[in-house]
Amino acid sequence: MITLITNIKELLQVRETSVSKVSGAEMAVLPTIKNAFLLIENNLIADFGLMENLPEVKADEIIDATGRIVLPTWCDSHTHIVYAGNREQEFVDRINGFTYEEIANRGGGILNSAKKLNETSEEEIYDQSKLRLEEVMRLGTGAVEIKSGYGLTVEGELKMLRVIKKLAADYPVSVKATFLGAHAFPLHYKENKTGYIDEIITKMLPEIAKQKLADYVDVFCETGYFSVEETEKIMQAGIEYGLTPKIHVNQFNSIGGIQAGIKFKALSVDHLEIMNPEDIEALKNTETMPVALPSCSYFLSIPYTPAREMIQAGLPLALATDFNPGSTPSGNMNFVVATACIKMKMTPEEAINAATINGAYAMGISDTHGSITKGKKANLILTKPISSYYQIPYAFGSNLIESVFIEGQIIK
Ligand SMILES: [Zn+2]
Repeated sequence: MITLITNIKELLQVRETSVSKVSGAEMAVLPTIKNAFLLIENNLIADFGLMENLPEVKADEIIDATGRIVLPTWCDSHTHIVYAGNREQEFVDRINGFTYEEIANRGGGILNSAKKLNETSEEEIYDQSKLRLEEVMRLGTGAVEIKSGYGLTVEGELKMLRVIKKLAADYPVSVKATFLGAHAFPLHYKENKTGYIDEIITKMLPEIAKQKLADYVDVFCETGYFSVEETEKIMQAGIEYGLTPKIHVNQFNSIGGIQAGIKFKALSVDHLEIMNPEDIEALKNTETMPVALPSCSYFLSIPYTPAREMIQAGLPLALATDFNPGSTPSGNMNFVVATACIKMKMTPEEAINAATINGAYAMGISDTHGSITKGKKANLILTKPISSYYQIPYAFGSNLIESVFIEGQIIK
């Protein structure tokens, strides 16, 4: 199957030679071609260039993209798409004045989701989660990382990871699976934290490794959740079972989690709402990608990741949704890109780089995703007719997507 897209008003994120990520001042540069064509062959980007250089091709399908923009699909490197039920009651409780921490302390929060997950059948969890996955694909996400972490029991965590594996098999979107058993301490281990960490290390990790159910290991490193020392212990164990760390850090407090992540060569450190100068300094010249989750800041009314300071310090930055039932019940990467521009003062170029190539890096898939490069997956967003790509963050409440291609196929 050969598909040719012609008369593209502007083709974004064009990288003749693939880069794995962009950092600091490079983030302000978004290479584009105006009046372009793009050729898709066997699910891959086969060729692209100026319309005037369009070679003679025998295409099975030709799409005229006059007035429309084409860019790579979003790479959402941090989600909790697999869950049961919802937490809309807590949403209303927060409107009525309770804080996220107060709700968590009285059995809400992650433990509320864990209770629902353990009471729900694997088939039902799959059915609920696939609707969310289908929705984010239609919103332009072509690669997604999904975490466990609402099981908090051996069986619950394995059940979630099996659902993630089935979604990966059933849908064309690229899926990376992360084991997040260390998301919270289950109630019956509240007075025996070491006991739960032992269960993670001696029961969950060996079984997950044996069944090849995860790519990454994650820990919620935060006051009241997992200490830096406990986080290090779990990362170390995960590494021994072949999993690369990606951790939740600095959401509410800076307690040294970033430094721990770097020490264990974490692929990414995520959240980063609270950053002190030492945290920024520690990330310089490392292979660890900082990931901001602005729709979580929006929904919880907490600070935004200080993108400007980080980019000025020369760091890369990726953007992801954190799609989850408690703090971010939205998987809309278009909203994430808009919010990064509006609230974090990222330029449209920086935000698009952060949501494509840097997001791909944070999932270890930069060689196949995140840019318009020959040989990469034909994962593309074709916009409606728009005046320029500035519209993507500017018209933050509008859906500007006409169609989404994943592996060369249009998502219905
Ligand atoms: Zn998260």
